[in-house]
Amino acid sequence: MNILILGGGGREHALAWAVLQNPKCDKLIVAPGNAGIAAIADCAQLDILDGGAVATFAEENAIDFVIVGPEAPLAAGVADDLRGAGFLVFGPSNEAARLEASKSFTKEICDAAGAPTAAWARFTETDPAKAYIREQGAPIVVKADGLAAGKGVVVAMTEEEAETAIDEMLGGQFGEAGADIVIEEFMSGEEASFFVLCDGTDALAIGTAQDHKRVGDGDTGPNTGGMGAYSPAPVLTDEIARRAMDEIVKPTLAEMSKRGTPYQGVLYAGLMIENGTPRLVEYNARFGDPECQVLMMRLGAQALDLMQAAAEGRLAETRVNWADDHAITVVMAATGYPGAYDKGSEIRGLDAMPEDSFRMVFHAGTEARDGAIVATGGRVLNVTARAASLAEARDAAYAMIDGIDWPGGFCRRDIGWRALP
Ligand code: ATP
Repeated sequence: MNILILGGGGREHALAWAVLQNPKCDKLIVAPGNAGIAAIADCAQLDILDGGAVATFAEENAIDFVIVGPEAPLAAGVADDLRGAGFLVFGPSNEAARLEASKSFTKEICDAAGAPTAAWARFTETDPAKAYIREQGAPIVVKADGLAAGKGVVVAMTEEEAETAIDEMLGGQFGEAGADIVIEEFMSGEEASFFVLCDGTDALAIGTAQDHKRVGDGDTGPNTGGMGAYSPAPVLTDEIARRAMDEIVKPTLAEMSKRGTPYQGVLYAGLMIENGTPRLVEYNARFGDPECQVLMMRLGAQALDLMQAAAEGRLAETRVNWADDHAITVVMAATGYPGAYDKGSEIRGLDAMPEDSFRMVFHAGTEARDGAIVATGGRVLNVTARAASLAEARDAAYAMIDGIDWPGGFCRRDIGWRALP
């Protein structure tokens, strides 16, 4: 089977690593890829937001299966274009990807499906939005409706903060993405992520994870794209996962099918768990990054079979071969991230890193220059390990980090703390 993966971050390196372990994979191309991916697969420069260009490339390279990594090509309808051209694709249509792209759409679906989530209202004008804030009181959450790269959400602890957020969002801070806003009830509890493969009709849980969004140890400092993750998430017990599947995910999928826009791909449900009850915070229409790295580390070669079964509508007959293991990934970022950071610093010591089914350094923002690996992004490496316990996996990951010589980078030293004794 010839496979094309779209994307070029740590998520796609992990997907490529897992897919390559499966003997079914004859050829793998990743577009655009990165320096780490180039070491294990062919990389191609291709505009992955241009569905026509991707379809032509897939045709020319006799591709049998396309896996879409990031949200942008999904929102651009690339999965639709590829399916229209006859390719087998893992990833939702752009209509179905609205579960990520529009917060008010997701809320409407949840209401129609009876899926538990925060109470909400949608506004396009500041006066009624502010009146609603005064009526509801704080804490309260203000969100730009559209995609804003994780920056369009303000958890306001006071009414003043909420009103400022309303002024900024409706004032055009996020352009079109903030032309509509959603105001939500504040939910307390512990957050965890639940990953489910969907084939339009059936659903298959493939793991749970928790991530660390803040840049500093002890979950302090500004928000980032994620500084580390681990799987499984102990807070998301089997019983809570079962409830999340029955009360949130399956009703959502049924509602999507009923509307003629069945969901196929991975559905990533961000949950808030309080007193053993899960409620939906948000859906994403793709794997999380860095959560994908720990899921792939745990699933290994079967990830390809599972994604293929989702794309071919065979999840009803598909099972995950679970191992009782734990995986962790620690993000190494360029100094300054998530603010301004330097590009081009050299990373040494990667050649000596172990690469086996228990330990792997996935690359996010890297480039090979004159035989050296240099940092080109904010989040640069995902040092990932798997072991029988989370503590052992954590120790293995930090032992690898200690062997990486990169004065221009940093990482958190406490990834996994919530789940560790
Ligand atoms: P990201 O890309 O970071 O996942 P996003 O822009 O898609 O973010 P959400 O996931 O909806 O936005 O919200 C971001 C974060 O804000 C959540 O992970 C959660 O910590 C917090 N949050 C969102 N909604 C609520 C809520 N109703 N109650 C409490 N916290 C919330």
